[in-house]
Amino acid sequence: MSHSLFTLIENSLPKDRSRIILEAPDRTHGLRDWSADYLLSFAARLASLFAQRGLESGDRVALQVEKSPEALGVYLACLRGGFVFLPMNTAYRFDEVDYLVGNAEPSLIICDPSAEKPILEIAERNATPHVLTLDAEARGSLMDEAAQVTEIVPPVAVEADDLAAILYTSGTTGKPKGAMLSHRNLASNGLALRDGWRFTEKDVLLHALPIFHAHGLFVACHCALLAGARMIWLGKFDRDMVIRELPRATSFMGVPTFYTRLLAGDDFNRDLVAHMRLFTSGSAPLLAETFEEFRARTGQAILERYGMTETGMNTSNPYDGERRAGTVGFPLPGTEVRVMSDEGVELGVGEVGGLQVRGPNVFSGYWRMPEKSAEEFAEGGWFKTGDVAMIDADGYVHLVGRAKDLIISGGFNVYPKEIEELVDDMPEVLESAIVGVPHADFGEAGVAVIVLRPGASLDEKTVIARLKEKLANYKVPKRAFFVENLPRNTMGKVQKNLLRDEYRDACKN
Ligand code: AMP
Repeated sequence: MSHSLFTLIENSLPKDRSRIILEAPDRTHGLRDWSADYLLSFAARLASLFAQRGLESGDRVALQVEKSPEALGVYLACLRGGFVFLPMNTAYRFDEVDYLVGNAEPSLIICDPSAEKPILEIAERNATPHVLTLDAEARGSLMDEAAQVTEIVPPVAVEADDLAAILYTSGTTGKPKGAMLSHRNLASNGLALRDGWRFTEKDVLLHALPIFHAHGLFVACHCALLAGARMIWLGKFDRDMVIRELPRATSFMGVPTFYTRLLAGDDFNRDLVAHMRLFTSGSAPLLAETFEEFRARTGQAILERYGMTETGMNTSNPYDGERRAGTVGFPLPGTEVRVMSDEGVELGVGEVGGLQVRGPNVFSGYWRMPEKSAEEFAEGGWFKTGDVAMIDADGYVHLVGRAKDLIISGGFNVYPKEIEELVDDMPEVLESAIVGVPHADFGEAGVAVIVLRPGASLDEKTVIARLKEKLANYKVPKRAFFVENLPRNTMGKVQKNLLRDEYRDACKN
């Protein structure tokens, strides 16, 4: 039996290979309606190109490009060739990409032609042997070279525990960590979601999520590909495009921000979505208010689920049965969850503690960080999610907080520590704290609270401008405030809860 996720996908695609399974509307370039056959042969061609360039099984292929059908083709080529796919957030700046490349040591970096110069510099600094380019309109050296490939190599046999992808997720240490995901992790989770959410060949998934993150890349694509369903592939969430394409779709996946934006106009209404069978939400808390407003407007209940880069999806509200607002539902089949006290004792119904998960979906550790990985697992293979949760009498999991003070802005994780370190490095700054506060559009946004060195002066604009040079925009605090001291508890820890209260209205408008 093959353990390759690629083989599983290949066997799940429609038997009639001429069927269109991917369409990217509003593009002028040819070949934008992809049949199953085209997707498979494109992946075969790219995998052969990578092999021809000298890449071997287990080698990393890093990708930082705008979303396109071809970018999905690169992912499938990696699965097929036994290469490890390493998608990078398109918002990452030079220093962030340089760190990831230094850590993951990819053999190939694929970037937008417009970013070729800095990427070549990064490749040189890190001795990366190959760089190819690809833009959103399918132009670049990747496409040119793929067209020249004459010999198609066969798919590579992989073991279930072989790595399929590494996705970087920032941590409390400030530096991003590479979550190592195996073919087993991805396949088991994909099948559980496909079946749990009833995806079939009849489905048309409107795909508006980015594909450098687990939500858009794994949750969405695997549900569709493993069902042989069709995807309408949008380059990004564009409200007008979503409204335009919804009538042709059967299902849609979003972060909560997508739903608040959709609900912001009257054109998102019951008539528009009466034919839809599924809306899911995740990556950040869906406010009960949004859930209710959506139900009042459309008569449908958003299905909220919970997961993370390291584990894929852990819990989901039921397809049949009550989808309960403010909860993330039940563990998926094959996945176990438990709530633990700080002392490591399993807690009962209604008790709040650290959430741990175990199952075939759970990753094996962080790339080249064995000690950090060991710290994150409890005995028996339980992964400590860092989320604080409670399980109610009916078995629904409620997330009540984030142990690690994570900020989720527009569905993206922002880890305060990473930003605090940069602010603290500024010569005028003594210390700082970054906290998340409510933001009308992004759900949450970061606010910097800064203590200056005696006699030093610095203004809000300068702090934000300096951070913008170093960080992806979504990580940059929206506001900065200067104070005499940070509030601390008797143990010397900064009391972020007090800061959150104080600055709660700072990003209201
Ligand atoms: P990521 O690794 O980027 O997928 O982020 C994972 C984190 O997002 C989790 O540990 C949770 O804190 C948060 N998260 C994911 N889904 C939900 C949800 N439905 N409700 C609240 N938080 C969520």
